[in-house]
Amino acid sequence: MIIMKSDATKEQIDHVIREIEKYGLRADVSQGDYRTVIGLIGDERGVPFDHFAVLPGVKEARMVETPYKLITREYARMAGDQSERRIIKVGDVRIGGDEPVFIAGPCAVESKAQLMTIAEGVKKAGAHILRGGIFKPRTSVHSFQGLGAAGEDEAEEALTWMREAGDRYEMPVVTEIRGESQVDLVAKYVDIIQIGARNMYDQDLLIAVARKKKPILYKRHFGAGIEEFLSFAEYMVAEDNKDIILCERGILPLGKGKSYTRYTLDLAAVPVIQKETYLPVIIDPSHAAGRRDLIFNLSCAGIAVGACGLIVEVHHNPEEALVDSAQQITPAECKELITACRQIHKAIGGRKNGG
Ligand code: PEP
Ligand code: MN
Repeated sequence: MIIMKSDATKEQIDHVIREIEKYGLRADVSQGDYRTVIGLIGDERGVPFDHFAVLPGVKEARMVETPYKLITREYARMAGDQSERRIIKVGDVRIGGDEPVFIAGPCAVESKAQLMTIAEGVKKAGAHILRGGIFKPRTSVHSFQGLGAAGEDEAEEALTWMREAGDRYEMPVVTEIRGESQVDLVAKYVDIIQIGARNMYDQDLLIAVARKKKPILYKRHFGAGIEEFLSFAEYMVAEDNKDIILCERGILPLGKGKSYTRYTLDLAAVPVIQKETYLPVIIDPSHAAGRRDLIFNLSCAGIAVGACGLIVEVHHNPEEALVDSAQQITPAECKELITACRQIHKAIGGRKNGG
C-alpha cells in the first residue's frame, strides 16, 4: 500500500503506478479528499517497499499482509474518505444510505403474468427493488430449473419480462447468474447482477461479473467464514467495481438431528462485516429460514443488527410456487414486514453498527 503526500502531483502518482506495473502488479488508485492511496493488487512479496518510499510524492509505502484490503474502511479512511458506508445508487434507490432497502419478488420467475402480479404486489408493499430467478441453482436435475434452462431465447424472454416489470412498477431489478456464459445476456437487462451462495468461490465468475461495471448482489456461501467471504469480495473491487452489496443468507446448521431451519442466519456477521468494510450488508431471511413463519421476526432482527436492507421471497400464491414454496410470503405479509422493519430502523436511530 502506497500513501501519497497530500500535495502529490498527477505525474508523481502516474510514476508510482508505472513502477508498480514494472513488478507485474496492478494499482488500485483511491483518490480521497486529502490524499491518494494506491493499493497494490497481486503478490506483494518481492516488491521493494523501500524503493517506493523514496519516490517523489510518496509519504509512506508498506506491505499489508491481509487477504483483503481494498474493501476495508481503513483503506478508504487513509484516502480521507470519512463516510461510514458506500452508498450504491441504482436508479433512484440508494443502498447503504439512511433508509433500509427492501428487495422482494418470487424465488423463480414462472410466467409473465406471475411476475407482473408479484411485482405490483411488492411495489404496493413498499419494496424498492424486484427480484426473480431465471437461472435457478437446484440440487436435483429433476426439479424446475428456472425458465432460463429452456434455452437462450426463453431466458432472454424472461429477462425482458423482468425489465418490463421493473420499468412498469419503477423498481430496479435483480436476477442471479450461475455461470460466465450467462453474464453478457443478463447484464443487458438487469440493474443488479446476483451471484448466489453456491458461486461465492468462483473467482473467474466474480471477475467476469465485476467487469460489467454494474452493481452486484453477492451472497455468502453457507460454509464460508467471514474472512473468506470478504477475501473473495475483494476480487470484484480489484476490478474497480466497488458497487458490491454483501448478503448474509445463513450458514450450515450445527449438530445432529433436525435443525428446524434451512440454514442458520448469522446475525452477528452483519455488524462485524460492516465494521470491517464500507460495503453495505443486507440479509436474506427467506433462504436462511426456509419457512415462512420465521420470516417476519428474522427480518426485524436483521434490521435491528444494522443491516442496510433485506432480500425476501414473495409470491402471490406461495403454496403454488414452483420453487421454495415453504418460505415465500404473500405481498400482504411483505407489507407488514416492511412496516415493522421501518419502525425498528427508526427505533435504533438508523444505526448501521459499523460507524
Ligand atoms: C436465491 O436468492 O434465489 C438463492 C438461490 O439464494 P442463495 O444463493 O442464497 O441460496
Ligand atoms: Mn429461493
